[in-house]
Amino acid sequence: FDQMNGEIWFDGKFIPFADAKIHVLTHGLHYASAVFEGERAYSGHVFKLEAHTERLINSARILDFEIPFTADEINAATNELLKREKLTEAYVRPIAWRGSEALGVSAQQNKIHIAIAVWEWPSYFKPEEKLKGIRLDIAEYRRPDPRTIPCKAKAAGLYMICTLSKHAAEHKGYADAVMLDWEGNVAEATGANIFFVKDGAVHTPTPHCFLDGITRRTVIGLARARGIEVIERAIAPEELEGFEECFLTGTAAEVTPVSEVGPYHFKPGRISEQLMHDYEACVRAAGAAAIAAE
Ligand code: PMP
Repeated sequence: FDQMNGEIWFDGKFIPFADAKIHVLTHGLHYASAVFEGERAYSGHVFKLEAHTERLINSARILDFEIPFTADEINAATNELLKREKLTEAYVRPIAWRGSEALGVSAQQNKIHIAIAVWEWPSYFKPEEKLKGIRLDIAEYRRPDPRTIPCKAKAAGLYMICTLSKHAAEHKGYADAVMLDWEGNVAEATGANIFFVKDGAVHTPTPHCFLDGITRRTVIGLARARGIEVIERAIAPEELEGFEECFLTGTAAEVTPVSEVGPYHFKPGRISEQLMHDYEACVRAAGAAAIAAE
């Protein structure tokens, strides 16, 4: 990233990509007082930008800090940055954190910073490729009890076990891992939500200890619009034996069919394929509508 050209929006200003640096004594780095978003632009417009910005501001409040910009200002900065960078298909990464005025567990006076970076990220929609499905391991780390962490915040600190779990899976040749929750039920992948299909109905874990993803909610809406029943409930790992299809949802993953979760095998089929196409159509239509509204 140090070599990248272009600009980053940093505390209200557009500055060169390579100059967007922080001090090593930044509280966010030492104590994980940082929250972020993962967004994706299609045709130059972030899909569900308002929902992402709202989650960012709310994540900061959960971590006891207030981002010193309004949602409208953050949205405008995002749109302007995409325009200045001339990006249409892009990844967008906003992050807010406590600064470097004091270093200790308490950092009430530290300044709150925010930055937004964007980079090109084409969405190659290759249904045939995706329908082969990806292979997932079952992670050793579990999503913690919601009483032990602020699980509704998209907080940097909560990703430590995700990175560890994803690395462990990659070392074994898997694409990613499914994390169970603290009670041993299926929770999510390391950066995406998970769904299963059985007898024409879609089943997905209730998001009581992990993010209720923006893509997850979109896909549930798309499924219901097709008259597909969606059941949110606790799913024990042993039940995976009886499911026919499995897929992940997330801003980056979009709808990604899964062929394996540990010892359990799935065959990406009709419902995964339908929702994959519906999601693609939905983000494309939103992009076209945003252009028309300009
Ligand atoms: N869970 C985790 C741990 C994630 O990082 C993400 C990606 N933000 C999701 C779920 C899916 O969320 P969304 O659909 O809002 O991208």
